[in-house]
Amino acid sequence: MANEVCFRTLHLDTPWSLEAYESVGGYSSLKKIIAGKLTHEKVIDELKLSALRGRGGAGFPTGLKWSFMPRNMPGNKYVVCNSDEGEPGTFKDRDILRYNPHQLIEGMIIAGYVMNAEVGYNYMRGEFYEPYDRMESAIAEAKSKGYLGQKILGSDFNFELHNHMGAGAYICGEETALIESIEGKKGQPRFKPPFPANYGLFGRPTNVNNTESYASVPVILEKGGQWFLDLGKPNNGGTKIFSVSGHINNPGNFEVNMGTPFADLLEMAGGALGGTKLKAVIPGGSSSPILPIDIMMGLTMDYDAIGKAGSMLGSGAVMVLDETTCIVELAAITAHFYYEESCGQCSPCREGTGWMSRVINRILKGDGRAEDLDNLERVATNIMGRTICALGDAAAMPVKGFLKHYRHEFEYMIEHKRSLVKG
Ligand code: SF4
Repeated sequence: MANEVCFRTLHLDTPWSLEAYESVGGYSSLKKIIAGKLTHEKVIDELKLSALRGRGGAGFPTGLKWSFMPRNMPGNKYVVCNSDEGEPGTFKDRDILRYNPHQLIEGMIIAGYVMNAEVGYNYMRGEFYEPYDRMESAIAEAKSKGYLGQKILGSDFNFELHNHMGAGAYICGEETALIESIEGKKGQPRFKPPFPANYGLFGRPTNVNNTESYASVPVILEKGGQWFLDLGKPNNGGTKIFSVSGHINNPGNFEVNMGTPFADLLEMAGGALGGTKLKAVIPGGSSSPILPIDIMMGLTMDYDAIGKAGSMLGSGAVMVLDETTCIVELAAITAHFYYEESCGQCSPCREGTGWMSRVINRILKGDGRAEDLDNLERVATNIMGRTICALGDAAAMPVKGFLKHYRHEFEYMIEHKRSLVKG
């Protein structure tokens, strides 16, 4: 079944309105909580049972993450939503913000209740003008009905929610850089530990989740953790929105059950553009290693299956490539992106991304040397696990993937000074 969770209002005329959201059961989980029918422990138990994993890319279990927050610690605590959505190929969160903003708002209010936080921030990518307007209107609507603000639904629980626009840095999608950015500082990742649950926004306990993760919570609490788990596979509960793009006939967002065969997703996306032969897939955004189409056709779309095949489900940005794609060119574009976006704090990332970008571009220009490929492998290996944040790994992993599956295209270009694919 499709569109059962985050896109459940999509079939309605004005899916973003409060009326539409209430008509599909919206805010009923919050009402249950306020009526005392769902304690904070029970909410966390249901989330753990549901096997909801972080939809931003890391796939960390959401219930476990919420349980780390010291809810009884006196003083301010914060709930933050990561709607930065900067991973190339990803375009799902903007559609939740645009078409079902109330579900995100309800998820964040519930998170505030569970973690004893009275303030939330929704950090949105700087270009999200329309999603921002929709979120602002939805917040005003929720306040007018008493779902948000002071004394929610007549209770003693208060929760204020603010939208905060980013300024265009990819690195601000990393949770601690995002926190720095909300604080008004340069968006640079912090060294961890301490983790945000102990030392987050303004030095206070903070929970950061992705838009799709928060938006899944109200439905899980309405229908039960077991229902959500059963939609997917063990350890991979629920539905997932996949942003499918590239050489296909019908690009777009598809909310499908976790564990759906890739072949089915490809069919939903209309198959290969113009009936061309497909070559490969980048299954989880630009930082996930490429997989040849023959491998992908035998896989299901879930964290474990894609991980076992040597890549990552990541943010669910599925980029489909046909046989006209030159992998060296693709590698050069990808490496340049990470070089540009490195914040420069740690030398393996700052220097390594530059080296990888320069070497691949040199190969592309026809000046490659025989030793370049081993050097690329060595640089990528020496970046991984040696940096403050995951951008270092995100830059290294695709390079390793391109070399693992398409080394022959690099070798051909070094030897013949032209592309094996494009001539
Ligand atoms: Fe900055 Fe890169 Fe280090 Fe992350 S890994 S902190 S982006 S230099």
